[in-house]
This record gives sequence, C-alpha cells and structure tokens, in this order.
Amino acid sequence: MSVELARYTTLGTGGPAREFARPGSIGEVETLLRRARDDELAVAVVGLGSNLLVADDGVDALVLHLEGELASVSVEGELMRVGGGAANAVVLHRARAAGLGGFEFACAIPGTIGGGVWMNAGAYGGDFSQVLQRALVVTADGTGWLTPAELGMSYRHSSLEHGRVVVEAELRLHPRDPDAIKNDVRELNRTRKDAQPTNRRTFGSVFKNPDHDLSAGRMLEACGLKGHRIGGAQISPKHANFIENAGGATTADALALMAEARRRAREQFGVELQHEVEFLGEISLPPL
Ligand SMILES: Cc1cc2nc3c(=O)[nH]c(=O)nc-3n(C[C@H](O)[C@H](O)[C@H](O)COP(=O)(O)OP(=O)(O)OC[C@H]3O[C@@H](n4cnc5c(N)ncnc54)[C@H](O)[C@@H]3O)c2cc1C
Repeated sequence: MSVELARYTTLGTGGPAREFARPGSIGEVETLLRRARDDELAVAVVGLGSNLLVADDGVDALVLHLEGELASVSVEGELMRVGGGAANAVVLHRARAAGLGGFEFACAIPGTIGGGVWMNAGAYGGDFSQVLQRALVVTADGTGWLTPAELGMSYRHSSLEHGRVVVEAELRLHPRDPDAIKNDVRELNRTRKDAQPTNRRTFGSVFKNPDHDLSAGRMLEACGLKGHRIGGAQISPKHANFIENAGGATTADALALMAEARRRAREQFGVELQHEVEFLGEISLPPL
C-alpha cells in the first residue's frame, strides 16, 4: 500500500514512501530493520513530521511510524519511561499529573520523543539532553541503551542517523507542584502565540540562528521577506523564519522560498543560512 507522507508532516507536503510500517513493539522494529538490511532498503522514521520536509517525489525507503507500546508513557518515581513515538504533549501532561517538573520547555514543541532526541529539540533554555537519562536505540545490528554523551547531543544536534531508531527513553525529572507547572506552561504558550504562527501549518524554524547580531527571523524580515509567496508556500507574515502552507503548497514551493531567503540573506548580510528543518528524500538547496 502506498502511503503519502504529506499525511504525516505538519506542513502537509511530501510524496509516498516506498514502504511504510507502523511497528508497535521493539521486536517488530528489530525484525523490520533486519529485513530492510537484507533487502538493501534505507530506513527512516517519521514522528509527528513537525521538523520535516519530504520530497514531492516520495522517499525510496522503508518509513516507520511508531505506535502502540512504542508511544506509551509510564512514571516510576522521578523517572519517566516513554516510547520513542510518544508525543511531547502527552508526556508533559503525564509529568504534570505526577507532579514532575523539568519537561515544561517542550510545551510548544509539537513533536515526539524520538524526534526530540534526534535534534536535541529545545526551547526557553531547556532541551532534551538536560532531561534524557538514556535512550534505547535499535539498529539492524542490535539494540542498546545510549546516554546523551554517547548520542553526541549538542545544540539542536545528535549523531543519530537514518537506520537508528529511538524506541524508548528514560527522562529524569524532579518533583514540582502541578499548579506551578501549569502556570509556567500557560505563560510560555502565551509568549509563543504572540510571536509565532501557531495556528498555521509550518515545520517550525526554517533556518538555524546564524552567528550574527540578528536572528534568522529578524534577518529575513529585514530582507523584506515577510509574506513573500511562491506557489502555495509563504514566509509567515508573523515571523520570517517560518514557512506556512497557505493552501496547496508543495515541498518544491517551500524549497524555492528557502533558496530565495538564503540568496537574499547572503546578498544583504553576507551570511550563509543553514537549514534547521530535516530533509527526507532526494531534495537539496542550490549552492549559493
Ligand atoms: C509550530 C512549531 C514550533 C516548533 N518549535 C520548536 C522549538 O521551539 N524547538 C525545537 O527544537 N523544535 C521546534 N519545532 C520543530 C519540531 O517540533 C521538533 O524538532 C521536534 O522535536 C520534531 O519531532 P517530530 O516527532 O515531529 O520529528 P519528525 O519531524 O517526524 O522527524 C524529525 C527527524 O527526527 C527523526 N526521528 C523522528 N522520530 C525518530 C525516532 N523515534 N528515532 C529516530 N529518529 C527519529 C526523523 O527521521 C527526522 O530525521 C517546532 C515545530 C513547529 C511545527
């Protein structure tokens, strides 16, 4: 069965996966990875697709979407045992109910635990590496627990690559009053809503912040790009480091906007912006 990955990305673009599976247990992931290796087929995971641009032509790989046991959440004292496919929102909700703080930073990151470990997602001074005790990673060659240091986690980065699947994680949190957590989350969400297009289809920050006085967003705003549209994709009128699906966007539209944004930032500021969003499939940006 051909599965259109547009259904699995927050931008709502992307073609079919050559093969698609929804494993619900560690054993299933192990079997799928071994079979893919024997068939010489690449493997990639799609979480909530909130940091992904998928090729319009599709992806020549086995694409996995973790569910069932692999999206479960349980609490053991100050430790949370969470599936790689568990949504951050669900984990945060359970942490608050259990009176555990430390995961509040993830309130506005609309992804899964696996996607968060992959890029060491973070906000408001917090990130995954600060709460992750260890993650269980499956490859075709075996399964093992890895610490943040062994995963090479640094600013918005880990050394994970396709074919390595985070199936479970242990988060070390600390006791905190649920009402204090609730108030912080409400405040953080309010701040976010004022500054970013939270009610539009986007994939989060397009570019990493450059080593410059201006953030990527401010730089692209200064280039006059707010509201700039190509096809169905437009640079958000609210925050220039976001691309919105303004109706019928394709990945090619988003890439064309990104290329234009890089060209202008280079021309006006001499800066080469690097994309933060992950690419899946045969897509790239033209050299500057
Ligand atoms: C409105 C909005 C706001 C955002 N704000 C932030 C923010 O403040 N901070 C921030 O860091 N990010 C932010 N993001 C980006 C995104 O939400 C995060 O990067 C998130 O961690 C991605 O998780 P995901 O499950 O959606 O991953 P996906 O987008 O599905 O995948 C991203 C990468 O992770 C890999 N991956 C996913 N799951 C697994 C797994 N189980 N095992 C191995 N690899 C896996 C994928 O193969 C892919 O390479 C935002 C996005 C949006 C749309």
